[in-house]
Amino acid sequence: MPVITVKPGVYVVGGPQLSHLVDTNVYLVHLKNFYILIDSGSVLGVNAILLNLMEMNVKVNDIKYVILTHAHFHAASGAYLFNSVDTLIIAHEPDAYYMRSLDYDKLGVPREYAKFINPIIPSVSIPYNREVYEVEEGELILIHAPGHTKGFMIVLIPSLSILFVSDLTSNILSHKWGSCEAEHRKSIEKTIKIVEEYNVNVMCSSYKCIWLKQRIIEFLKQVIREKPLWV
Ligand SMILES: [Zn+2]
Repeated sequence: MPVITVKPGVYVVGGPQLSHLVDTNVYLVHLKNFYILIDSGSVLGVNAILLNLMEMNVKVNDIKYVILTHAHFHAASGAYLFNSVDTLIIAHEPDAYYMRSLDYDKLGVPREYAKFINPIIPSVSIPYNREVYEVEEGELILIHAPGHTKGFMIVLIPSLSILFVSDLTSNILSHKWGSCEAEHRKSIEKTIKIVEEYNVNVMCSSYKCIWLKQRIIEFLKQVIREKPLWV
């Protein structure tokens, strides 16, 4: 399968067109002398993602961090395959707990796929009250952005002026996932401030990337204006 280049060093290696229809986008980023993956796709798509990495000549051992923005099936359930190799899986509490304990409601697992799910044991579980976690100082910054799920986080890479927001902008919430509309709104407002402060010029979400700071801010404001969809 071909992969999609977002910009030099940033690639979409998984998603509905690249790995499995249920997957949200999986991003591979080349930083210094290692790679990171942002989300892993679902358990249904992870094999195709590994093949895509092979085609790019990226070995799993070259991936230093797998960062899981949140616990949802479509974004994170494939990550169990990375548990066995020398790669740090990073997630935020309480989503990290839901992944370990297979809380199907919190993972948003469609019933027909529940039997395929395996527990994920994150190497790093960021405590719930920790707002910012710098994986690589000034280079790779994880920011807690609760609302869609309680342990949701966004990923900032200042040197590339890029921000990864996964389902933050999907604007879909659910009581089953423990969503909170007020926190979700606050997290989007916080994201706008981050875009302004760090001059973010590419923002990548679950299914697309948006270019140019002003367009990104307009898009985020539009998401705030639209009422979230509760499912
Ligand atoms: Zn989600």
